[in-house]
Amino acid sequence: IKITELQKFYRTEEVETMALNNLSIHVKEGEFVAVMGPSGCGKSTLLNIVGLLDDLDSGSYLFNGIEVANFNERKRSDLRKHNIGFVFQSFNLIDELTVFENVELPLIYTKVPAAERKKRVEEVLEKVQIMHRRNHFPQQLSGGQQQRVAVARAVVNRPKLILADEPTGNLDSNNGNEVMQLLTELNEAGTTIVMVTHSEHDARYADRIIRMLDGRVLMETVG
Ligand code: ADP
Ligand code: ADP
Repeated sequence: IKITELQKFYRTEEVETMALNNLSIHVKEGEFVAVMGPSGCGKSTLLNIVGLLDDLDSGSYLFNGIEVANFNERKRSDLRKHNIGFVFQSFNLIDELTVFENVELPLIYTKVPAAERKKRVEEVLEKVQIMHRRNHFPQQLSGGQQQRVAVARAVVNRPKLILADEPTGNLDSNNGNEVMQLLTELNEAGTTIVMVTHSEHDARYADRIIRMLDGRVLMETVG
């Protein structure tokens, strides 16, 4: 990820907010980076742009060496589906689908054949140790179990990049540590991770901490 002089505004009828102000960051392949800073400093906005969920007003964004700043929604979505996995604070599982079906969904979007889907879903459910709950619905699981399912869904397409927005924010410390351990294992296997967190404890799992203030990078420290 190589972002240079990124600017992002939100415009409503009365006000214009500058959410990101000439921000530049560089994340190398295989790195684990934590992004910290007070509420409103632009962390979620940055994560949305890095994840190709939102566009930018000016600046450059090289993803894997490709300039994506001017990509339209269709091209962004294509790149996103194959290369990026998301983990959210509130898990964002679909309540009407089973654990298995939730994790299978990204493979359906990328048109993976059914037999291969079954194999890949079972493989990641084993990895996050939730195979025994494959036919349960999200509401039947604890928060920690739901987040493990969400991590499985994020990695089932074998993305190069995982973006996590406060992945332990709704978990007690035991479950939180389990999820951080899982992210660390994925990073050790080569996946790049960018994680927004308010937790200094969780940030210590990262190689590097980017501290933001008012839409800019304030400083970077070793995690
Ligand atoms: P966090 O502080 O956990 O990063 P926020 O409360 O900033 O989360 O944002 C939650 C959601 O609300 C996001 O989708 C964000 O885009 C949206 N949001 C945040 N601030 C505003 C705002 N001033 N107007 C409209 N939507 C907003
Ligand atoms: P953080 O994630 O660090 O809490 P955000 O990226 O959510 O910060 O927000 C950065 C700034 O942009 C804040 O001033 C917030 O109110 C504003 N903002 C975020 N989303 C929206 C939105 N959809 N519409 C208008 N303003 C927004």
